[in-house]
Amino acid sequence: MLDESKLAIHQATTFEKWSFDEAVEGYARHGVQAMGVWRDKLQEFGVQRGARLLRETGMTVSDYSPAGLLTPLEDLSFQQRLDDNRRIIDEAAEIGAQCVVLISGGLDDDSRDIERARGQAKEGLAALIPHAKAAGVAIGLEPLHPMLCASRSVLTSLEMTNDWCDELADDDTLGVVIDVYHVWWEPHLARDIARAACRIRALHVCDWLQDTRDLRLDRGMMGDGVIDIPAIRRMVEAAGYTGFREVEVFSERDWWRRDPDEVVQIVKQRYQSFV
Ligand code: ZN
Repeated sequence: MLDESKLAIHQATTFEKWSFDEAVEGYARHGVQAMGVWRDKLQEFGVQRGARLLRETGMTVSDYSPAGLLTPLEDLSFQQRLDDNRRIIDEAAEIGAQCVVLISGGLDDDSRDIERARGQAKEGLAALIPHAKAAGVAIGLEPLHPMLCASRSVLTSLEMTNDWCDELADDDTLGVVIDVYHVWWEPHLARDIARAACRIRALHVCDWLQDTRDLRLDRGMMGDGVIDIPAIRRMVEAAGYTGFREVEVFSERDWWRRDPDEVVQIVKQRYQSFV
C-alpha cells in the first residue's frame, strides 16, 4: 500500500466541474489532504478568502501554477510578465504553497529564434529568484514534452532543466518539477532524475494515452496509458524526494466530463494500483 497521506490532487483533474472551493471541500471529503492549486480558479474565488478556506479545511497546497511563460521577446511584455510572476509568488506565499510551478514559455508567433527564447526565459528566471527567496517560496521548474516547445515551453528536457538549475541556483529556492507525462520518454531519465536529487520539488503523475488527441488536454488516468509510473516514482524517491505524489489529469474529452466525486474515487484506486 502506498501512503495515502502523500496523495495530492491537482485541481486541473476536476477542472470543468469544480470551482476552487468545491475542489477544496470535495478532495477533503474524500480524505485527500493536499492539492495543487490553479491560479485562475483561486483568483475567481479570491486569494485571501481561498487562503482562509485552505487553512480551515486543513488542506496542504502541494504547488501553485502556472507561473513563468517568460518568453515574449518584446521588452514591455517581458517586464509585465516578470511583474505578474512576482504577484504569483506572493499569492503562493499567501496560500502556503510548497512551490510555484514555472514553465518557461514557447516561441512568439513571429519568432524563429529558439536560442533567444531560451536565453530570455533564463534571464526572467534569474530576475525572479531574489523575489522568491525574499518571499520564502520555492520555484519548481517543469520541463515540458518537446511537442509543446513552440506553444508552451522551450525548456524540453530534464537534462536542460538540471543545467539551468546549475547555472542559476545558489541555494534551494530553485528546483525541479518532474511530471511523468513530459519526461517518461527520455533516454537518460534515470541519470537525470538522480542528478536532480534534492532539487526535486514536486512529482506529477497521469498517463500518456497511446492515441492521444491533444498534447495538453488529453491526458490519461494512471493505468490507462503507456507510462511505467511506479518505475519513475521509485527513481524520484530513490533520489531523495519525500513529498507528495500529485495526480494531474488535464482531460477535456473524458475525465473533465465525469462526476468529480467519481473521478476522485478512481484517482484513489489508481493511486494504489498504478502509482
Ligand atoms: Zn505537471
